[in-house]
Amino acid sequence: MAADASRPEGEPWQWSEPVWRRIVGRARAGRSLKPANWPAGARCAVALSFDADHETIPLRDADPSPMRLSQGQYGARAAMPRIRSLLERAQIPATFFYPAVSALLYPDEVRGVVAEGHEIGIHSWIHELNTGLDYAAERSLSFRAAEVLTDIAKTAPVGMRTASWDFSPNTLAIIREMGLVYDSSLMADDDPYELTADGEPTGIVELPPEWIRDDYVYFGMHRGSTLRPHTPPSAVEEIFAAEFDGAWEEAGLFLLTMHPHVIGHRSRLPLLARLIAHIKERGKIWFATHAQVAAWCRDQA
Ligand SMILES: [Zn+2]
Repeated sequence: MAADASRPEGEPWQWSEPVWRRIVGRARAGRSLKPANWPAGARCAVALSFDADHETIPLRDADPSPMRLSQGQYGARAAMPRIRSLLERAQIPATFFYPAVSALLYPDEVRGVVAEGHEIGIHSWIHELNTGLDYAAERSLSFRAAEVLTDIAKTAPVGMRTASWDFSPNTLAIIREMGLVYDSSLMADDDPYELTADGEPTGIVELPPEWIRDDYVYFGMHRGSTLRPHTPPSAVEEIFAAEFDGAWEEAGLFLLTMHPHVIGHRSRLPLLARLIAHIKERGKIWFATHAQVAAWCRDQA
């Protein structure tokens, strides 16, 4: 068999043990940062996040289709006012992860979200996939994205969620260079943990998301696909509520990822309102931003 230049160490079944151990160890879950106690006697932490992608998904795909772009604009135009109003009524802080291009398209939205007490986090430049970039390009885009958000929000972001959770083999090194407190892209636990790099603790807090706790998985639809996954909101509510109930039982973290252009529709946002009511009914909840959860877990450890 001819050697593949892109795989100098051969095919996976030919790798020596140091090769696969090195790959596994690049960015890995270290010690648990699940705290013994949550603030103010709370039993469970709830961290809601909204990835405000807006038009950046079709832009990332170099798709100039006004139809797809309009789906993104819906997120800012129709969904964000509804979401902000729901959070205001419920008196819950949340984290909004912005691609820099999205923030540049909607600077007033970013400033409004900050003024309402929510957190702004980094979410790539234009929703690019990190695993397709080399180290220098990913680093440059990450730093530029942080600068743009700082400039618009007048406060420096302390956390990152990679676009599409596409955390590359270089991402952890870049996060450390940026001096961030936390990442929210990797999925090795339900509760917060410390990331290790090549076996060494980094001090970076991972707040794990999961596709299970992501609205897009159930509602996303691409016209080029034959899949039409328009799941009933009640089914999604059941899954999210079960994930929360488990977090409450284990006194852990319930972290939910949503997208304005996905969850913000008339048929869907009521499920979030019902979920929040269910969470509040359970009681002893600490509703917090991702930054607050990360800081608490780091300081308790
Ligand atoms: Zn996104």
